[in-house]
Amino acid sequence: MARINDHYLKLAAGYLFPEIARRVKEFAQAHPQARLIRLGIGDVTLPLPNAVIEAFHRGVEELAGQKSFKGYGPEQGYGFLREAIAQNDYRARGASVEADEIFISDGSKCDTGNIQEVFSLDCRIAVADPVYPVYVDTNVMAGRTGPYDGKGRYGGILYMPCTEENGFVPELPEERADLIYLCFPNNPTGAVASRQVLKGWVEYARKNDSIILYDAAYEAFISDPSIPHSIFEIDGAREVAMEFRSFSKTAGFTGTRCAFTVIPKELAGRDAGGGRVPIHRLWMRRHTTKFNGVSYPVQVAAAAVYSPEGKAQVRRLIDAYMENARLIREGMAECGFKVFGGANAPYIWLKTPKGMGSWEFFDQLLAKANVVGTPGSGFGPAGEGYFRLSAFGQRADVEEALARINRLKGFFVPERI
Ligand SMILES: *Cc1c(COP(=O)(O)O)cnc(C)c1O
Repeated sequence: MARINDHYLKLAAGYLFPEIARRVKEFAQAHPQARLIRLGIGDVTLPLPNAVIEAFHRGVEELAGQKSFKGYGPEQGYGFLREAIAQNDYRARGASVEADEIFISDGSKCDTGNIQEVFSLDCRIAVADPVYPVYVDTNVMAGRTGPYDGKGRYGGILYMPCTEENGFVPELPEERADLIYLCFPNNPTGAVASRQVLKGWVEYARKNDSIILYDAAYEAFISDPSIPHSIFEIDGAREVAMEFRSFSKTAGFTGTRCAFTVIPKELAGRDAGGGRVPIHRLWMRRHTTKFNGVSYPVQVAAAAVYSPEGKAQVRRLIDAYMENARLIREGMAECGFKVFGGANAPYIWLKTPKGMGSWEFFDQLLAKANVVGTPGSGFGPAGEGYFRLSAFGQRADVEEALARINRLKGFFVPERI
Protein backbone atom coordinates (compact mmCIF):
# COMPACT_ATOMS: atom_id res chain seq x y z
CA MET A 1 0.00 0.00 0.00
CA ALA A 2 1.19 3.49 -0.80
CA ARG A 3 2.16 5.64 2.14
CA ILE A 4 -0.28 8.53 2.65
CA ASN A 5 0.33 12.12 3.74
CA ASP A 6 -0.06 11.73 7.51
CA HIS A 7 -0.74 15.41 7.94
CA TYR A 8 -4.24 14.83 6.53
CA LEU A 9 -4.97 12.66 9.56
CA LYS A 10 -4.36 15.65 11.84
CA LEU A 11 -7.41 17.43 10.40
CA ALA A 12 -10.18 17.65 12.97
CA ALA A 13 -12.96 15.30 11.90
CA GLY A 14 -16.21 17.20 12.46
CA TYR A 15 -16.13 19.86 9.80
CA LEU A 16 -18.72 22.54 10.46
CA PHE A 17 -21.07 22.36 7.49
CA PRO A 18 -21.45 18.56 7.35
CA GLU A 19 -22.36 18.62 11.05
CA ILE A 20 -24.95 21.34 10.41
CA ALA A 21 -26.35 19.30 7.51
CA ARG A 22 -26.56 16.22 9.73
CA ARG A 23 -28.48 18.02 12.47
CA VAL A 24 -30.81 19.73 9.99
CA LYS A 25 -31.56 16.43 8.24
CA GLU A 26 -32.29 14.71 11.53
CA PHE A 27 -34.63 17.52 12.55
CA ALA A 28 -36.40 17.60 9.18
CA GLN A 29 -36.99 13.84 9.28
CA ALA A 30 -38.49 14.08 12.75
CA HIS A 31 -40.60 17.15 11.79
CA PRO A 32 -41.58 16.73 8.12
CA GLN A 33 -44.16 19.54 8.33
CA ALA A 34 -41.65 22.20 9.51
CA ARG A 35 -40.67 24.81 6.89
CA LEU A 36 -36.99 25.42 7.47
CA ILE A 37 -35.38 28.78 6.70
CA ARG A 38 -31.66 28.64 6.01
CA LEU A 39 -29.67 31.66 7.07
CA GLY A 40 -26.59 29.57 7.60
CA ILE A 41 -24.40 28.80 4.66
CA GLY A 42 -22.42 31.53 2.89
CA ASP A 43 -23.80 31.08 -0.60
CA VAL A 44 -25.62 33.65 -2.72
CA THR A 45 -29.23 33.10 -3.78
CA LEU A 46 -30.00 35.81 -6.37
CA PRO A 47 -29.44 35.05 -10.09
CA LEU A 48 -26.53 36.41 -12.12
CA PRO A 49 -27.00 40.00 -13.39
CA ASN A 50 -28.33 40.38 -16.92
CA ALA A 51 -25.18 42.03 -18.28
CA VAL A 52 -23.19 39.04 -17.03
CA ILE A 53 -25.59 36.51 -18.58
CA GLU A 54 -25.54 38.32 -21.95
CA ALA A 55 -21.73 38.41 -21.97
CA PHE A 56 -21.63 34.76 -20.96
CA HIS A 57 -23.82 33.90 -24.00
CA ARG A 58 -21.61 35.99 -26.29
CA GLY A 59 -18.57 34.15 -25.01
CA VAL A 60 -20.18 30.79 -25.68
CA GLU A 61 -21.25 31.86 -29.20
CA GLU A 62 -17.66 32.80 -30.04
CA LEU A 63 -16.64 29.23 -29.33
CA ALA A 64 -19.08 28.08 -32.03
CA GLY A 65 -17.33 29.99 -34.83
CA GLN A 66 -14.25 28.69 -36.65
CA LYS A 67 -12.55 32.12 -36.56
CA SER A 68 -13.50 33.09 -33.02
CA PHE A 69 -12.95 29.66 -31.44
CA LYS A 70 -10.57 29.55 -28.48
CA GLY A 71 -8.66 26.65 -27.03
CA TYR A 72 -6.33 27.02 -24.06
CA GLY A 73 -6.16 30.61 -22.91
CA PRO A 74 -3.34 32.24 -20.96
CA GLU A 75 -3.04 30.50 -17.57
CA GLN A 76 -3.00 33.87 -15.78
CA GLY A 77 -6.21 35.00 -17.49
CA TYR A 78 -7.12 37.04 -20.56
CA GLY A 79 -5.71 40.54 -20.84
CA PHE A 80 -9.16 42.13 -21.23
CA LEU A 81 -10.24 40.90 -17.78
CA ARG A 82 -6.93 41.63 -16.03
CA GLU A 83 -6.94 45.15 -17.48
CA ALA A 84 -10.57 45.76 -16.43
CA ILE A 85 -9.72 44.67 -12.89
CA ALA A 86 -6.57 46.80 -12.65
CA GLN A 87 -8.47 49.84 -13.85
CA ASN A 88 -11.78 49.51 -11.99
CA ASP A 89 -10.85 47.77 -8.75
CA TYR A 90 -7.48 49.44 -8.18
CA ARG A 91 -6.47 52.49 -10.21
CA ALA A 92 -9.96 54.00 -9.84
CA ARG A 93 -9.49 53.77 -6.06
CA GLY A 94 -6.00 55.25 -6.14
CA ALA A 95 -4.20 51.93 -5.67
CA SER A 96 -1.49 51.17 -8.19
CA VAL A 97 -1.82 47.62 -9.48
CA GLU A 98 -0.77 46.55 -12.97
CA ALA A 99 -2.70 44.06 -15.10
CA ASP A 100 0.26 41.66 -15.10
CA GLU A 101 0.18 41.52 -11.30
CA ILE A 102 -3.30 39.95 -11.47
CA PHE A 103 -3.77 36.19 -11.73
CA ILE A 104 -7.26 35.05 -12.74
CA SER A 105 -8.38 31.80 -11.13
CA ASP A 106 -11.41 29.63 -10.48
CA GLY A 107 -11.80 30.71 -6.86
CA SER A 108 -10.40 32.43 -3.83
CA LYS A 109 -10.87 29.23 -1.87
CA CYS A 110 -8.35 27.61 -4.20
CA ASP A 111 -6.01 30.62 -4.18
CA THR A 112 -6.00 31.15 -0.41
CA GLY A 113 -5.56 27.39 -0.05
CA ASN A 114 -2.80 27.01 -2.64
CA ILE A 115 -0.69 30.07 -1.89
CA GLN A 116 0.98 28.46 1.13
CA GLU A 117 2.88 26.03 -1.09
CA VAL A 118 5.27 28.70 -2.38
CA PHE A 119 6.46 29.22 1.21
CA SER A 120 8.72 27.10 3.37
CA LEU A 121 7.27 24.62 5.84
CA ASP A 122 9.17 26.54 8.53
CA CYS A 123 7.05 29.64 8.05
CA ARG A 124 5.07 30.64 11.10
CA ILE A 125 1.50 31.45 10.20
CA ALA A 126 -0.89 33.76 12.04
CA VAL A 127 -4.66 33.57 11.72
CA ALA A 128 -7.60 35.22 13.39
CA ASP A 129 -9.80 33.18 15.70
CA PRO A 130 -12.61 32.78 14.56
CA VAL A 131 -11.39 32.21 11.00
CA TYR A 132 -12.36 31.00 7.51
CA PRO A 133 -11.24 27.35 7.89
CA VAL A 134 -9.45 27.14 4.50
CA TYR A 135 -6.39 29.12 5.69
CA VAL A 136 -5.80 26.76 8.60
CA ASP A 137 -6.69 23.41 7.04
CA THR A 138 -4.46 23.88 3.99
CA ASN A 139 -1.50 24.62 6.25
CA VAL A 140 -2.31 21.53 8.30
CA MET A 141 -2.37 19.42 5.11
CA ALA A 142 1.00 20.82 4.09
CA GLY A 143 2.53 19.88 7.44
CA ARG A 144 3.08 23.40 8.68
CA THR A 145 1.37 22.74 12.04
CA GLY A 146 1.46 20.46 15.03
CA PRO A 147 -1.40 18.19 16.07
CA TYR A 148 -5.00 19.22 16.80
CA ASP A 149 -5.62 20.00 20.45
CA GLY A 150 -9.20 18.70 20.45
CA LYS A 151 -10.49 22.18 21.22
CA GLY A 152 -10.31 23.85 17.83
CA ARG A 153 -6.62 24.71 17.52
CA TYR A 154 -3.48 23.25 15.97
CA GLY A 155 0.01 23.40 17.42
CA GLY A 156 2.44 25.88 15.92
CA ILE A 157 -0.16 28.34 14.59
CA LEU A 158 -0.29 31.83 16.03
CA TYR A 159 -3.96 32.45 16.76
CA MET A 160 -5.17 36.03 17.13
CA PRO A 161 -8.39 36.11 19.14
CA CYS A 162 -11.17 38.38 17.89
CA THR A 163 -13.38 39.35 20.77
CA GLU A 164 -16.04 41.85 21.71
CA GLU A 165 -13.28 43.82 23.51
CA ASN A 166 -11.16 44.31 20.39
CA GLY A 167 -14.21 44.81 18.17
CA PHE A 168 -13.43 41.48 16.42
CA VAL A 169 -10.35 43.02 14.84
CA PRO A 170 -7.19 41.10 15.85
CA GLU A 171 -4.48 43.00 17.69
CA LEU A 172 -0.94 43.13 16.31
CA PRO A 173 0.79 40.05 17.72
CA GLU A 174 3.72 40.41 20.13
CA GLU A 175 5.40 37.48 18.41
CA ARG A 176 6.64 37.52 14.87
CA ALA A 177 4.77 35.68 12.11
CA ASP A 178 5.96 35.07 8.55
CA LEU A 179 2.54 34.82 6.96
CA ILE A 180 -0.51 36.64 8.28
CA TYR A 181 -3.96 35.82 6.97
CA LEU A 182 -6.36 38.74 7.25
CA CYS A 183 -9.93 38.86 5.95
CA PHE A 184 -11.88 42.13 5.80
CA PRO A 185 -14.83 42.58 5.66
CA ASN A 186 -14.70 39.48 7.78
CA ASN A 187 -16.31 36.12 7.43
CA PRO A 188 -17.69 35.13 9.96
CA THR A 189 -17.84 38.23 12.21
CA GLY A 190 -18.78 40.92 9.67
CA ALA A 191 -16.07 43.18 11.17
CA VAL A 192 -14.24 45.66 8.94
CA ALA A 193 -10.75 47.16 9.14
CA SER A 194 -10.35 50.92 9.18
CA ARG A 195 -7.53 52.62 7.30
CA GLN A 196 -5.76 53.07 10.65
CA VAL A 197 -5.96 49.36 11.43
CA LEU A 198 -4.63 48.39 8.01
CA LYS A 199 -1.81 50.91 8.32
CA GLY A 200 -0.86 49.22 11.59
CA TRP A 201 -0.72 45.83 9.88
CA VAL A 202 1.36 47.11 6.99
CA GLU A 203 3.78 48.71 9.45
CA TYR A 204 3.96 45.49 11.45
CA ALA A 205 4.66 43.47 8.30
CA ARG A 206 7.35 45.91 7.14
CA LYS A 207 9.04 45.86 10.54
CA ASN A 208 8.89 42.09 10.91
CA ASP A 209 9.52 41.10 7.28
CA SER A 210 6.13 39.37 7.21
CA ILE A 211 3.75 38.87 4.33
CA ILE A 212 0.06 39.74 4.66
CA LEU A 213 -2.34 37.47 2.78
CA TYR A 214 -5.32 39.78 2.47
CA ASP A 215 -8.68 38.18 1.65
CA ALA A 216 -11.02 40.88 0.34
CA ALA A 217 -13.77 38.56 -0.94
CA TYR A 218 -16.40 40.83 0.62
CA GLU A 219 -15.00 44.27 -0.30
CA ALA A 220 -18.03 45.05 -2.49
CA PHE A 221 -20.25 45.04 0.60
CA ILE A 222 -18.47 48.05 2.11
CA SER A 223 -20.68 51.13 2.10
CA ASP A 224 -18.75 53.35 4.55
CA PRO A 225 -16.53 55.51 2.29
CA SER A 226 -13.77 55.74 4.92
CA ILE A 227 -13.08 51.99 4.87
CA PRO A 228 -10.44 50.76 2.37
CA HIS A 229 -11.54 48.10 -0.12
CA SER A 230 -8.01 46.95 -0.78
CA ILE A 231 -4.84 46.56 1.27
CA PHE A 232 -3.12 48.36 -1.64
CA GLU A 233 -4.89 51.58 -0.68
CA ILE A 234 -2.33 51.67 2.15
CA ASP A 235 1.10 53.16 1.40
CA GLY A 236 3.89 50.60 1.59
CA ALA A 237 1.57 47.60 1.20
CA ARG A 238 2.99 46.58 -2.18
CA GLU A 239 6.20 45.31 -0.53
CA VAL A 240 4.42 43.24 2.13
CA ALA A 241 1.00 42.11 0.93
CA MET A 242 -0.92 40.16 -1.64
CA GLU A 243 -4.67 40.25 -2.09
CA PHE A 244 -7.38 37.72 -2.91
CA ARG A 245 -10.64 38.71 -4.51
CA SER A 246 -13.54 36.82 -5.96
CA PHE A 247 -16.58 37.39 -8.17
CA SER A 248 -18.41 34.82 -6.03
CA LYS A 249 -20.12 36.99 -3.45
CA THR A 250 -19.79 40.26 -5.37
CA ALA A 251 -21.53 39.21 -8.57
CA GLY A 252 -23.10 35.84 -7.82
CA PHE A 253 -20.33 33.66 -9.31
CA THR A 254 -20.26 30.98 -6.57
CA GLY A 255 -21.39 28.37 -9.11
CA THR A 256 -19.80 30.00 -12.17
CA ARG A 257 -16.31 30.26 -10.61
CA CYS A 258 -14.02 33.23 -11.17
CA ALA A 259 -11.64 35.00 -8.81
CA PHE A 260 -8.22 36.61 -8.83
CA THR A 261 -5.08 37.12 -6.79
CA VAL A 262 -2.95 40.27 -6.90
CA ILE A 263 0.78 39.85 -6.29
CA PRO A 264 2.80 43.07 -6.63
CA LYS A 265 6.21 42.71 -8.24
CA GLU A 266 7.87 44.18 -5.13
CA LEU A 267 6.63 41.42 -2.83
CA ALA A 268 9.48 39.06 -2.00
CA GLY A 269 10.55 36.22 0.23
CA ARG A 270 14.04 34.84 0.80
CA ASP A 271 15.73 31.63 -0.31
CA ALA A 272 17.95 29.33 1.78
CA GLY A 273 20.94 31.60 1.21
CA GLY A 274 19.05 34.73 2.22
CA GLY A 275 18.62 35.89 -1.39
CA ARG A 276 15.54 37.89 -2.30
CA VAL A 277 12.97 36.04 -4.46
CA PRO A 278 9.87 37.74 -5.88
CA ILE A 279 6.67 35.88 -4.90
CA HIS A 280 5.19 36.91 -8.27
CA ARG A 281 7.72 34.68 -10.04
CA LEU A 282 6.90 31.68 -7.85
CA TRP A 283 3.14 32.06 -8.15
CA MET A 284 3.48 32.48 -11.92
CA ARG A 285 5.43 29.21 -12.01
CA ARG A 286 2.87 27.41 -9.85
CA HIS A 287 -0.08 28.81 -11.77
CA THR A 288 1.31 27.90 -15.19
CA THR A 289 2.32 24.42 -14.01
CA LYS A 290 -0.79 23.41 -12.08
CA PHE A 291 -3.59 25.45 -13.63
CA ASN A 292 -4.84 25.90 -17.18
CA GLY A 293 -6.96 28.99 -16.89
CA VAL A 294 -10.61 29.85 -16.34
CA SER A 295 -12.97 29.10 -19.23
CA TYR A 296 -13.23 31.87 -21.82
CA PRO A 297 -17.01 32.51 -21.50
CA VAL A 298 -16.64 32.81 -17.71
CA GLN A 299 -13.92 35.44 -18.12
CA VAL A 300 -16.05 37.36 -20.64
CA ALA A 301 -18.93 37.17 -18.14
CA ALA A 302 -16.67 38.41 -15.32
CA ALA A 303 -15.45 41.34 -17.42
CA ALA A 304 -19.10 42.39 -17.90
CA VAL A 305 -19.21 43.13 -14.16
CA TYR A 306 -17.16 46.25 -15.03
CA SER A 307 -19.44 47.51 -17.82
CA PRO A 308 -21.75 50.40 -16.86
CA GLU A 309 -24.83 48.10 -16.87
CA GLY A 310 -22.89 45.41 -15.03
CA LYS A 311 -21.83 47.84 -12.33
CA ALA A 312 -25.39 49.08 -11.83
CA GLN A 313 -26.81 45.55 -11.71
CA VAL A 314 -24.16 44.29 -9.30
CA ARG A 315 -24.88 47.28 -7.08
CA ARG A 316 -28.56 46.25 -6.99
CA LEU A 317 -27.58 42.70 -5.97
CA ILE A 318 -25.39 43.95 -3.16
CA ASP A 319 -28.03 46.45 -2.05
CA ALA A 320 -30.60 43.66 -1.84
CA TYR A 321 -28.32 41.55 0.37
CA MET A 322 -27.37 44.55 2.49
CA GLU A 323 -31.06 45.33 2.99
CA ASN A 324 -31.40 41.78 4.36
CA ALA A 325 -28.37 42.45 6.56
CA ARG A 326 -29.99 45.61 7.92
CA LEU A 327 -33.28 43.78 8.60
CA ILE A 328 -31.45 40.99 10.44
CA ARG A 329 -29.22 43.34 12.39
CA GLU A 330 -32.06 45.61 13.47
CA GLY A 331 -34.58 42.80 13.88
CA MET A 332 -32.32 40.75 16.13
CA ALA A 333 -31.32 43.81 18.15
CA GLU A 334 -35.01 44.60 18.63
CA CYS A 335 -35.48 41.09 20.03
CA GLY A 336 -32.78 41.93 22.58
CA PHE A 337 -29.83 40.15 20.99
CA LYS A 338 -26.41 41.73 21.00
CA VAL A 339 -25.44 42.00 17.34
CA PHE A 340 -22.23 42.85 15.45
CA GLY A 341 -21.32 43.21 11.78
CA GLY A 342 -23.96 43.40 9.05
CA ALA A 343 -23.23 47.07 8.24
CA ASN A 344 -20.40 46.70 5.68
CA ALA A 345 -20.54 42.92 5.41
CA PRO A 346 -23.24 40.35 4.60
CA TYR A 347 -22.79 38.55 7.94
CA ILE A 348 -24.36 39.28 11.29
CA TRP A 349 -22.49 37.97 14.31
CA LEU A 350 -24.58 37.71 17.42
CA LYS A 351 -23.94 36.84 21.00
CA THR A 352 -25.92 33.81 22.05
CA PRO A 353 -28.43 34.63 24.80
CA LYS A 354 -28.36 33.36 28.38
CA GLY A 355 -24.76 32.22 27.99
CA MET A 356 -25.85 29.39 25.69
CA GLY A 357 -23.14 27.56 23.78
CA SER A 358 -23.07 28.11 20.01
CA TRP A 359 -24.33 24.60 19.23
CA GLU A 360 -26.98 24.74 21.95
CA PHE A 361 -28.32 27.95 20.42
CA PHE A 362 -28.18 26.34 16.96
CA ASP A 363 -30.35 23.46 18.20
CA GLN A 364 -32.79 25.77 19.98
CA LEU A 365 -33.18 28.11 16.99
CA LEU A 366 -33.74 25.09 14.75
CA ALA A 367 -36.25 23.47 17.09
CA LYS A 368 -38.21 26.58 18.13
CA ALA A 369 -38.03 28.81 15.02
CA ASN A 370 -37.02 26.27 12.35
CA VAL A 371 -34.25 28.69 11.37
CA VAL A 372 -30.78 27.41 10.46
CA GLY A 373 -27.74 29.52 11.28
CA THR A 374 -24.05 28.80 11.83
CA PRO A 375 -22.52 28.17 15.26
CA GLY A 376 -19.65 30.59 15.89
CA SER A 377 -17.58 27.89 17.57
CA GLY A 378 -17.30 26.16 14.19
CA PHE A 379 -14.90 28.93 13.12
CA GLY A 380 -12.63 28.61 16.14
CA PRO A 381 -12.76 28.54 19.94
CA ALA A 382 -13.08 32.35 20.24
CA GLY A 383 -16.35 31.98 18.30
CA GLU A 384 -17.90 29.98 21.17
CA GLY A 385 -20.94 31.81 22.50
CA TYR A 386 -21.52 33.50 19.14
CA PHE A 387 -23.64 32.73 16.12
CA ARG A 388 -23.51 33.76 12.45
CA LEU A 389 -26.52 34.71 10.38
CA SER A 390 -26.05 35.28 6.67
CA ALA A 391 -27.76 38.00 4.65
CA PHE A 392 -27.62 35.93 1.43
CA GLY A 393 -31.16 34.53 1.83
CA GLN A 394 -34.30 35.68 0.06
CA ARG A 395 -35.91 38.79 1.50
CA ALA A 396 -39.23 37.01 2.26
CA ASP A 397 -37.39 34.25 4.13
CA VAL A 398 -35.43 36.78 6.15
CA GLU A 399 -38.66 38.54 7.15
CA GLU A 400 -40.37 35.28 8.05
CA ALA A 401 -37.36 34.12 10.10
CA LEU A 402 -37.29 37.39 12.01
CA ALA A 403 -41.04 37.26 12.67
CA ARG A 404 -40.68 33.75 14.09
CA ILE A 405 -37.75 34.74 16.29
CA ASN A 406 -39.64 37.83 17.44
CA ARG A 407 -42.55 35.68 18.61
CA LEU A 408 -40.05 33.63 20.62
CA LYS A 409 -38.04 36.48 22.02
CA GLY A 410 -39.37 35.84 25.51
CA PHE A 411 -37.85 32.39 25.28
CA PHE A 412 -34.49 33.43 23.90
CA VAL A 413 -34.03 36.73 25.65
CA PRO A 414 -36.07 37.08 28.84
CA GLU A 415 -34.62 40.47 29.61
CA ARG A 416 -32.52 42.76 27.47
CA ILE A 417 -28.84 41.83 27.56
C1 LIG B 1 -16.76 32.94 -0.04
C2 LIG B 1 -15.39 33.27 0.39
C3 LIG B 1 -14.36 33.33 -0.55
C4 LIG B 1 -14.61 33.11 -2.03
O1 LIG B 1 -14.41 31.81 -2.39
P1 LIG B 1 -14.51 31.37 -3.92
O2 LIG B 1 -13.70 30.12 -3.97
O3 LIG B 1 -13.94 32.46 -4.76
O4 LIG B 1 -15.97 31.12 -4.20
C5 LIG B 1 -13.09 33.69 -0.12
N1 LIG B 1 -12.85 33.97 1.17
C6 LIG B 1 -13.82 33.94 2.09
C7 LIG B 1 -13.51 34.31 3.49
C8 LIG B 1 -15.12 33.58 1.73
O5 LIG B 1 -16.07 33.54 2.66
